[in-house]
Amino acid sequence: MSATISGIGISHGIAIGKVHRLEWGEVEVRETSIPEESVEDEIARFRHAVGTARQQLKAIRNSIPENTAADIIDFIDTHLLMLEDTLLTAAPVELIRARRCNAEWALKSQRDALAQVFDEMDDPYLRTRKDDVDHIVTRLQRILLGENAHTDPQNDDQLRGAVVVAHDLTPAETVLLHHQGIAGFVTESGGPLSHTAILARSLGLPAIVGTHVTPQQVHDGDAVILDGARGVLLTGFDDTTLEEYRHRQHQQQTRRSELQRLKDKPAVTLDGTRIHLLANVELHEDVLAARSAGAEGIGLYRSECLFMNRSDIPGEDEQLQQYLSAIEALKGLPITIRTLDLGSDKECGAEPPSEHLSPNPALGLRAIRLCLKHADLFRPQLRAILRASGKGPVSMMIPMLSSAQELSEVLMLIDEVKDELHREHLAFDRNMPIGGMIEVPAAALSAGLFARKLDFLSIGTNDLIQYTLAIDRIDDEVTYLYDPLHPAVLRLIKMVIDAGRQYDVPVSMCGEMAGDPRYSRLLLGMGLSDFSVPPTALLEVKNVIHKSRMTQLTPVVNDILHNDDPAKISQLLVKLNEI
Ligand code: PEP
Ligand code: MG
Repeated sequence: MSATISGIGISHGIAIGKVHRLEWGEVEVRETSIPEESVEDEIARFRHAVGTARQQLKAIRNSIPENTAADIIDFIDTHLLMLEDTLLTAAPVELIRARRCNAEWALKSQRDALAQVFDEMDDPYLRTRKDDVDHIVTRLQRILLGENAHTDPQNDDQLRGAVVVAHDLTPAETVLLHHQGIAGFVTESGGPLSHTAILARSLGLPAIVGTHVTPQQVHDGDAVILDGARGVLLTGFDDTTLEEYRHRQHQQQTRRSELQRLKDKPAVTLDGTRIHLLANVELHEDVLAARSAGAEGIGLYRSECLFMNRSDIPGEDEQLQQYLSAIEALKGLPITIRTLDLGSDKECGAEPPSEHLSPNPALGLRAIRLCLKHADLFRPQLRAILRASGKGPVSMMIPMLSSAQELSEVLMLIDEVKDELHREHLAFDRNMPIGGMIEVPAAALSAGLFARKLDFLSIGTNDLIQYTLAIDRIDDEVTYLYDPLHPAVLRLIKMVIDAGRQYDVPVSMCGEMAGDPRYSRLLLGMGLSDFSVPPTALLEVKNVIHKSRMTQLTPVVNDILHNDDPAKISQLLVKLNEI
């Protein structure tokens, strides 16, 4: 019987394949008592499972290509280290002996005891370690129960070409699965602006999130069609539907190769307006993808990715090496490194301790707020970025600015660090451009204030929309309210572009809106000339630019900006895109 499961399409493209379900929630474990004479056998069974888990993790580590981001490898190394920890290896053995229970139950009891300790900790970093314990315990439980962990390399053959269905995926798991050749993925939870979603778009993986699909609705091996643009997963379809989708998939592939012809052409409108098209990157491999898509540089380098999935904070030298390798790969093209945007949905293992857990992390100590509070974290990064500026065309960008006071503090700190480097005779570019992200409504409304003191501004629509419309960007319950065309959002964007004009400061946009070709003409007509987009979206946006004439866009865009009726705005957008 055919069925359609709907969700939020977060990464376009069609994937046709067999379902491969990943671990769904917790493993169910029951207590069984073990006779005295079998206790040592049970302990041996447990130790064997630990050995197998170790081998599995090592195999995953070895299967990852060399150019994979260090954060992904560190994530696996952390788990390997935890398998050496007596709390996870010796303590369950003691429990098996003392309670004469099965290994699964001993492991569960130890996990619950550890979870309680973690829950009582004030330190948010240590609390995140609880997830790591859960990952390891689940892996061991599955081995004991004779189930496989599906993201392991021995399942490569099953994963290749599969449509993965999971409750949720971390960014690290998404990268691993991509390397293992999956065709696309569907998750029960998640929103369009989560890090995993942004990564899926970067990797060009068709994906749907927030499906609220129950485990009963899809089974391993079911043939499915994933339509990322429409946000649907089809099961039990007939041959006609399959043919139709195969045809559409083929058309999309043809279109992608046709767009390749634009790769080396400059982004210019029909009436000669030159637009700058740069790329957003998260992982080192995105830098290569950006180059092969013909990006003019990197407009947003999300530096926090180096801090993800690891238990330590990368030092100045490690950060510098990372930036230098990006600079080298870019062969002279410019790069804008954004300073750490940790906190809120950016779950980074190395987050520094804060005094208390924020009741509302998106509005709490995030991004520049967190960095200013933790100079021990911020200074090494400022030093690394500045030192990188001595080796290539680097700009620095500050996320989530909201007040003049904050901006002065950052600029003062940067000056201090420059003096320090100078005293140490370390090379850097004293004139390295410093820009700010406008992603808080207050900053957009007072954009002039920031434009006067900075070298450039970049509009982060992901957060600007989140904060303007008061919708948590990772909560799929409120995704329906996410609307880049909301009149309030459009007016704020326009204010920033106008402030840039007034103070002769370049304004770019690096939020996901910039990479959605449906909005390209609107943004062009609003006066935006610098776009930073996911590498996979670059050629589509360039294609729209090539087919646009500014003189035709301006009047329709003005009508849109003077309207506050959503239906009328949508109608006008259709008209604009049909010119
Ligand atoms: C944004 O908020 O639009 C942005 C580009 O930053 P991030 O998505 O990393 O928060
Ligand atoms: Mg942001």
